Amino acid sequence: MDWKDENTFRYEFILRLLFIASVFIIVNLNWLGVYIGDEINYPLVYGLTSGYLLLNLLWILGREKFSYQGDYWYIVVAIDFTITFAYIFATGGAESNLFLMLGIVPMIAGVYFGLKGAVVAGVAEIAAFTFVVLLDKVLIKQVEATNYSHLVIRYVYIAGSALFDAVITGLMAKDRDRLEVLYKISQSNSSIPILSRLVESILGLLSDHLRASKVLLILYEEQSDDLRIQEPAIGLSAVEIATINDQLNSEEAYEKLLSVDKSMRTNANFLPGLAGEQASSKKSRLDVMITSLRARERKIGYIVLWRREDQKEFTRRDERFMNLVSDHIAVYIENTLLYKKSEENVAQLSSLIRVVDAIGSLSKLDDIYTLALDVVRGLFAPDMALINVVNRKTGLLEPVKSFGFSEYYQLHNLGRPFERILDCFVLTHDRGFLSPDIDKDKRCPNLRVEEGVKSVLCTAIKSGKEVYGILHLASRYPGAFNEQDLTLANAIGEQLGIALERAELFNEINRLAITDSLTGLYNRRYLNNILEDEIKRSSRYNHPLSFVMIDIDHFKFYNDRNGHPMGDQVLRDLAKILKENTREVDVLFRYGGEEFLILVPEANKDEAVVMAERIRSMVKEFRFPMEEDQPEGDLTISIGVASYPEDGASGELLIEMADRALYQAKRMGRDSVIPYSVRYPDEHNIRGSAKWGSDGKHGQYS
Ligand code: GH3
Ligand code: MG
Ligand code: MG
Repeated sequence: MDWKDENTFRYEFILRLLFIASVFIIVNLNWLGVYIGDEINYPLVYGLTSGYLLLNLLWILGREKFSYQGDYWYIVVAIDFTITFAYIFATGGAESNLFLMLGIVPMIAGVYFGLKGAVVAGVAEIAAFTFVVLLDKVLIKQVEATNYSHLVIRYVYIAGSALFDAVITGLMAKDRDRLEVLYKISQSNSSIPILSRLVESILGLLSDHLRASKVLLILYEEQSDDLRIQEPAIGLSAVEIATINDQLNSEEAYEKLLSVDKSMRTNANFLPGLAGEQASSKKSRLDVMITSLRARERKIGYIVLWRREDQKEFTRRDERFMNLVSDHIAVYIENTLLYKKSEENVAQLSSLIRVVDAIGSLSKLDDIYTLALDVVRGLFAPDMALINVVNRKTGLLEPVKSFGFSEYYQLHNLGRPFERILDCFVLTHDRGFLSPDIDKDKRCPNLRVEEGVKSVLCTAIKSGKEVYGILHLASRYPGAFNEQDLTLANAIGEQLGIALERAELFNEINRLAITDSLTGLYNRRYLNNILEDEIKRSSRYNHPLSFVMIDIDHFKFYNDRNGHPMGDQVLRDLAKILKENTREVDVLFRYGGEEFLILVPEANKDEAVVMAERIRSMVKEFRFPMEEDQPEGDLTISIGVASYPEDGASGELLIEMADRALYQAKRMGRDSVIPYSVRYPDEHNIRGSAKWGSDGKHGQYS
C-alpha cells in the first residue's frame, strides 16, 4: 500500500468512528435532559450504531477491501448512505437532517478549498443556523423552554464539527499538495531528459512546496567520487555556490555528508560554507535540511534546503516529506544521468566512424595529424593534446603536432625529441595509459607535463604491431578521462596508425615514381614537374638559377669493352660523387641514359661553373674500374652550364642551352666545363632529333 493511501485511510477511519460517536451522543442528549426531538426510535438507533461500528472494525481488519479506496468502494459508499438515512429516519425529521447537513458542509468546503474553506464554511453555517433559530417560532419556544441549553449545545456541536472538519480536511489538503508535488516531479522526469532542466524543475517544486529560500543539489562525480554542486541551484549566488563547492570535498564535510542517512534537519553550522552570505547565528534553529539521495543501492548525492531566519524552522513533517520523495528524485536523476551517458556513447561512436572515414581519405601526414587532433578535441575536451611520432632512425619519439600547450612548454619540450621509444610506458605496455592524478602517478617517470596538469591519457598510434607514435591528452582537471575514453582513444590510435601506414605507403609510391631506380636520383618526370615552378620562383625573388648538364665521355666505349653491368656501376658511382659534391638545395636528376642534370638554385653562372669544375675534377680523380682502357686512359665527364636569367626565360630553353654548352665541351676535347655562350655555333638545337657530333664520335642521345 502506498504511503498516500495509508494517510487517507487513517483519516477516513477516524471520521467514521467520530461520526458513530457523535450520532450516539446526540441521540442520547434527551436522557441528559436536552430536548432534541420526540420521535427517536432508540432500538433502531442502537442497532444501527453497533452494526455500523462492527462493520467499520471489520473494515479496518480487511483494510483495502473495505474503504473508499479499496476494490469495493461502491459497496462502502452504499452502506454509508444507507446508514446515514437510517439514522435520519430513526431520529425523526428535519432537525436531524439539518444537523447532518451542517456537519457535512465544512467537510466539502475543506476538500475543495483546504483549511480556509472549512473555516469559512463553519462560520457561514453558524450564521445560517442563527438565522433559522430566529425565524423558526417553534424552535424559539423550545429554546426558551430549555433555558437556552438546547441552543448552546447545538452551537457547540456545529462549531466543533466545523473545526474538526477543517483540521481533517486541512491535513488532507496538505497530503493532496504532496501528491501533486510528487506527481509533478514524476512528470518533470518523463518529459526532461536533460539534467539541468530536471534539476531546475525538481528544485523549483521543492522550494515552492517546502517554502525553502535556497535549494541545491549536490552529486557525486562518476569518476572521482568528488562532490559537486549541480547547477542550476535556487536562491544561491555564484559566490555561495563556489564557496560551498570549495568546501564540499574537505575530509570533514565529505564524511559528514556521508553520514546523512535519509533526511536530516540541522543548521548552517553543519557544513562550513552552508551559512553563505547570511551568517546563521542561532545554532539551535533547524533552518537547514539535508536529504541524501539513493539510487541503485548507492548514494548519488544530496539535496540541501534552507529557510530564512524570518521563516519557521523545518518540521518533522517536512523531513518526512523529503524522506518520501527522495527515492523518487534519486531515480529520476539517475535515469537522466544514464540517458546522458548513453547519448554520449552514441555521439562518441558516430564521431569515431567519422574519423575512420575522414582519416582514410587523407594521404598527407599533416592533414592526418590535424584531423586527429580536431577529433580528439571534440571527443575528450582535453586542455592540451600532442602527437608524437617515432623516428625510425633515432628510435626517439618526436612531437609533430599539438594544441593547448604554453609557449614555454612548446619551447622547452616540443622542439626536440620527447623520449626514447623503449622508455615510453604506453609503447611498452599494451593498454594505453590513464592517470586521473599524474602528480601521484609513478608509472611514467619520463613524462614531463605542463604546469597544472592533473589528468593524462596516452594511447599508442599503431597499425598491427607496427608503432607509429603516441597520442597524448592532458587536462587540468583531475579525473578528466575515464576507462571508456581510454578505450575510445585506443580505437582512434589504431585508426591513426592505419592512416599513417597508408600515408607512408602512398608517399613511398610517390617517391618511387619520381626516382631513378639505378642511381636513386630524381628522374626526368620529376624534373618536368618542378622545372617551371623553379623558374617562376627565381623570377619572383629575382634570384639566379643554374643548369649543369653532365655527360660521360666515351661511355659507349666503356660499355662495349666492360659490359653493361660495369657501365651501370659507373653510373651509380658518378651519382654518388654528384651527391657528395652538391648542396642540400641542389636538385640532382638522371636526365637520360648517362646524362645528369643539376639544378643549382641561388647560383649564378660563375658559381655554377666553379661547382661544375669541382665535380669534373672529382670524377677525373676517381678511380673507376677498368678506366685505364678508356681512349684517354681515364674516365671523365663533360659539363655544360647555362643560367637563368641571362641564357633563357624558360626551363626548356635553359636545358637546351646547357646542352649546347655540353656539346661545345665535347667538341673542345671533353673532360671540361663550358658555360653557355652565344658565341657557339647553333648546330644541333633541337633535343631528341639532334645527333651529337656529326663526326660520328658522339652517339645519339638516349
Ligand atoms: P661521348 O663522349 O661523345 O658522349 O661518347 P659516348 O660514347 O658517351 O656517346 P653517347 O653519349 O652517344 O653514348 C651513350 C651511351 O651510353 C650509349 C649507351 O651504351 C650508354 N648508356 C646509356 N644508358 C645506359 C645505362 O643505363 N647503362 C649503361 N651501362 N650504359 C648506358
Ligand atoms: Mg657520353
Ligand atoms: Mg650521351
